[in-house]
Amino acid sequence: MKILIVEDEAPIREVEAAYLKRAGYDVAEAATGPAALELFEQSKFDLIVLDLNLPGLSGLEVCRRIRADSLVPIIMLTARAEDTDELLGLDLGADDYIKKPFKPPILVARAQALLRRHAPARLEFKDIAIEPAAMRVTQNNRAIALTTTQFNILLALAKQPGQVLTRDQLLDQSYDDPAGHAVFDRTIDAHIKAIRKALEPDPAHPVYIQTVIGRGYRFREVGE
Ligand code: CA
Repeated sequence: MKILIVEDEAPIREVEAAYLKRAGYDVAEAATGPAALELFEQSKFDLIVLDLNLPGLSGLEVCRRIRADSLVPIIMLTARAEDTDELLGLDLGADDYIKKPFKPPILVARAQALLRRHAPARLEFKDIAIEPAAMRVTQNNRAIALTTTQFNILLALAKQPGQVLTRDQLLDQSYDDPAGHAVFDRTIDAHIKAIRKALEPDPAHPVYIQTVIGRGYRFREVGE
């Protein structure tokens, strides 16, 4: 999952980038409207975090131009409450608004919620299908029973096949409120063990969820 951050103030941009990276996202940064539009044309993004108050080309105009040919989810950051009211009236097509100043975890939570809303209805692999909205996993059309946390961990991994996710990233993506849970790295290991038991033909020699020693876990498409 790739997120474009558009913010002219470097310290703010760096904090946003750090938090979103820690949550497991790839991040690209732009300091101006034109730079953002250029990046947007060059690569595909799953979400855009867009500051309203940019020098030169405003966030409003950037939003309008992106919306002209894309439905990519956009979170608009606004400096004042009045700005938000005005923007809602303008109906620019931003999907969410956050008022500055905000706590970075709020941005992460809203980004995750928005990405979840825009998630594909179904992830399909050779013999496994995952339906995020229904929270259902089937293997060769046979239902696989998982707890909510186990489902979220599997989904986080399967959304980015081949990419290693650390235990911290899995923690962030699998609990709605990671800070509110007494969860530790080893908790993730226990969940992975349970998912393997449910999914792997031979849990002692896993093929779907691979351990990457010293780093974390990765989902591999069988037959890949
Ligand atoms: Ca700004």
